[in-house]
Amino acid sequence: MNYQITYSAKRSTVAIIVKARQLQVKAPTGTCEHFIAEFVASKRDWIVKQLQRQSALHSEKSQPLDEGVLTLFGQKQPLLLKSDNVSHVRWLDEGIEISIGNRVQNRQEKAKALLLTFMAEELAQFIHIRLGYWQPRMGVQAQDVKVRVYKRRWGSCDRRQRLTFNTLLAGAPKWVIDYVVVHELAHIRYMDHGPRFWELVNQHCVHTQEAKNWLRQRGISLELEF
Ligand SMILES: [Zn+2]
Repeated sequence: MNYQITYSAKRSTVAIIVKARQLQVKAPTGTCEHFIAEFVASKRDWIVKQLQRQSALHSEKSQPLDEGVLTLFGQKQPLLLKSDNVSHVRWLDEGIEISIGNRVQNRQEKAKALLLTFMAEELAQFIHIRLGYWQPRMGVQAQDVKVRVYKRRWGSCDRRQRLTFNTLLAGAPKWVIDYVVVHELAHIRYMDHGPRFWELVNQHCVHTQEAKNWLRQRGISLELEF
């Protein structure tokens, strides 16, 4: 088993950490390497389980560049990578073409930025259409709508009735995004998640529970890795 040992005078015990699919050992300064090797070997089953769990989580995320696929609105679109004078992303008949300018230094960072901008635009267009449908029906009106990357939420509504949606939702099926739209619009009326809030959501969105389940179980697949 490969691992890296970090010694510290402040430590009094040996600790094993499995992080980012790597094994790290922290030990008090002067600990015998043989002792550490035995200690690690004695924890082998636990370490293997942690590593497996982390790589399972890792592979559930989408890797558009490695897989050559970008999932948009729940549908896998072929992603065609191209080198050109200028950087751009555009729809083709056979999928989505992403072109990275010849002089770009960090090509992965550029590809990530381009795809997130493209997804934000696609999502904003769809949400705009759905707001046109839901707002008159729910009797509410958002003051502003933004799309941005959030780490731990799908959408938000602030006290000034401004809605924000997570860019990564662009990968979800449209019926799931629709639930998030109804959810955030309902917050214009009720800021909390009380019974009256859910009553309003359920009155308009007939698949609330399925959408919540989808986001809980499959939400991780909307995260992108480059
Ligand atoms: Zn909410």
